[in-house]
Amino acid sequence: MSTNPWIERVNREEIVDVSKALVSIPSVSGDEYEVMQFVKRWLDDHGISYVETANDPMRPNIIATVGNPGEGPLIAMNGHLDTVPVSDASSWKTDPFQGVLSEDGQKLFGRGASDMKSSVGVMMTMLDLFKDAPLKGALSAHIVSDEETSAIYGTLHVLDEIEAGNLPRPDYVFIGEGSQHKVRNAERGGLAVNVHFKGRASHTAAARVTGINALAKAAKGILALEHHIDTFHPAVGYPVLSVNMIQAGVAHNVVPGEAMISIDRRLVPGEDKESVVADIRAKLDAVAAEDPEFVYELEIDPDGGYIAPNITPEDSPLVQAFQSAVRELTGEEPEFFVEWAGMTDGRFYRQHGMDTVCMGPRGEGAHGANESINIDDLEKQAKIYALTISSLLGV
Ligand SMILES: [Zn+2]
Repeated sequence: MSTNPWIERVNREEIVDVSKALVSIPSVSGDEYEVMQFVKRWLDDHGISYVETANDPMRPNIIATVGNPGEGPLIAMNGHLDTVPVSDASSWKTDPFQGVLSEDGQKLFGRGASDMKSSVGVMMTMLDLFKDAPLKGALSAHIVSDEETSAIYGTLHVLDEIEAGNLPRPDYVFIGEGSQHKVRNAERGGLAVNVHFKGRASHTAAARVTGINALAKAAKGILALEHHIDTFHPAVGYPVLSVNMIQAGVAHNVVPGEAMISIDRRLVPGEDKESVVADIRAKLDAVAAEDPEFVYELEIDPDGGYIAPNITPEDSPLVQAFQSAVRELTGEEPEFFVEWAGMTDGRFYRQHGMDTVCMGPRGEGAHGANESINIDDLEKQAKIYALTISSLLGV
């Protein structure tokens, strides 16, 4: 086990105090102002300098920095303080907007405890831990609003400011979303595709004579498309194709002449928009070859929201530093995070060419009732961060 002095200095009490305080200030997306005021007061009290940047002054982002910019790389730890709302308060055993510690002190309950205020708590204590260290470089935190919604007031705004030269450009980015302490160096992309099926509307009475039921054609299409895709990627796992919506029909007694299905396709590195569209076409064309009345048209990326799969290579110093930290702390070989997981703000940093790794705790009940985080897991995250920072910034 490691004897690195930074591990000894990780302050469990401080992590719990900050995380509890963050959870106790409600900050559903759109309502982040108060929690950011707490962050500023805390940074002031600890002598840590910061700047505030915002599209909307009521939805600020705090960029706090310690160390010696210009003397080495800049690390940015990104965490969001907005949360999803509480839709089922009666299912909670505690007040969701109070940070409540379990009696044994092992768990923190409350909205945002797992996604991801406690992780921001860890980041704030890292600034405190390293603020007087002779860093060869700098350590900053991008504490943002608006992750659970559009990100345009949060991380996307911060990246705009970086591109405009108003904020320094990080060399390495940590994302604190849950990763079960595994190295998450890549994320799947996402593409929406709508398939429009053309039939012929008709009175039900004459359905077998004049009608072509577009809904029945859509059903054939769905059966052709819905399947497990067997191409495993070692950093992100499997791609996904899921048909998630169908629209058809105008009345009980009218054969539908049109139908539309919506596909959500998650891509792994190596796939792109063209390759997955070609795959969808091939599957549908195979049906059309058997059924001349199977007529379809694709609407690719209807909302312009295509996200390319993104990866920070395994030989990046950031990936290597995290792997060494896990090895040093646990004595075990670090694993890549291969899960059925959604996207994080990490994709935006990768799109801007910055090496980015997500490393965070495991949590329970994110977006649901009785959300909680294990304090031991936060301490482990903090130790992995401390080791990674000390290696990348030479202390
Ligand atoms: Zn999150």
